[in-house]
Amino acid sequence: MDVFGLIGNPVGHSLSPPMHEAAYDALEMDARYVTFEPSRDSLGLALDGASALGVRGLNVTIPFKEDVLALVDPDPLAERIGAVNTVDFSGEPTGHNTDAAGVIRAFEHHDVSLSGTAVVVGAGGAGRAAAFALADEGVDVHIANRTVSRAETLADAVPNASAHGLDALDSLLADADVLVNATSVGMESDETPVPKAALHADLAVLDAVYDPIETRLLREASAVGARTIDGAWMLLFQGVEAFELWTDRDAPVDVMNEALRASL
Ligand code: NAP
Repeated sequence: MDVFGLIGNPVGHSLSPPMHEAAYDALEMDARYVTFEPSRDSLGLALDGASALGVRGLNVTIPFKEDVLALVDPDPLAERIGAVNTVDFSGEPTGHNTDAAGVIRAFEHHDVSLSGTAVVVGAGGAGRAAAFALADEGVDVHIANRTVSRAETLADAVPNASAHGLDALDSLLADADVLVNATSVGMESDETPVPKAALHADLAVLDAVYDPIETRLLREASAVGARTIDGAWMLLFQGVEAFELWTDRDAPVDVMNEALRASL
């Protein structure tokens, strides 16, 4: 049996197990997806143990995405983002960041052409992944963050990027094609980091937040005629990307999507 899994702390409410196990069932794979909660002190031991036991792959979530970077051989994108969310144990353990592909594939799945200008709100883990991913597609990226110094640090590392505070959102969004909310604002609350008046019909809006699935940002964006993509799409495609990396097979995207949404 092949074992895949997730390490983080906590991992109790993760949506990854049903999403991945639905893929194994659909493809009649003899595989399981297991969650692990090591302490930070034993993270290196946990990765060594997983490798020794023949675990095929691990996803990594909060609070370990940055710590794992130093414990595996990261690919160039994970190194630039500064975080690993997927470890592949075929050979020496390698680190990848499939959150970046999650952003791009979520837009592609919705036929959003990635060109022009994007505004990424947030400069934490999700913001870093989104900013590098969009810049690598050739999009000009404006990063707006509550803590401006964090946006500046990120913009220095991302090609063709600029840094702003949240007060610049009105003017930045006027000419933007794409908006990503990569803050935690809106999670389990009816708040939004983006002024309603700044939204317009020519925007495609991805909210990384998936709890609730229809955030206030997406509701207000939809009301002005913008295209909206909920955070479950990003979650789905980071998982699809990890599945394909580990197994070298096309993921059954529809099956994984159905299982994910049934678990939300
Ligand atoms: P993080 O590293 O902790 O970053 C949090 C970000 O939110 C920072 O930019 C922070 O700004 C900003 N923020 C927090 N509270 C704020 C407030 N009250 N007002 C304005 N900005 C605020 O977290 P993360 O890992 O990037 O995750 C961010 C969100 O994305 C979470 O909701 C997470 O669940 C979601 N996410 C979704 C996926 C997916 O696949 N859909 C993947 C990863 C993350 P400061 O820098 O000023 O603190």
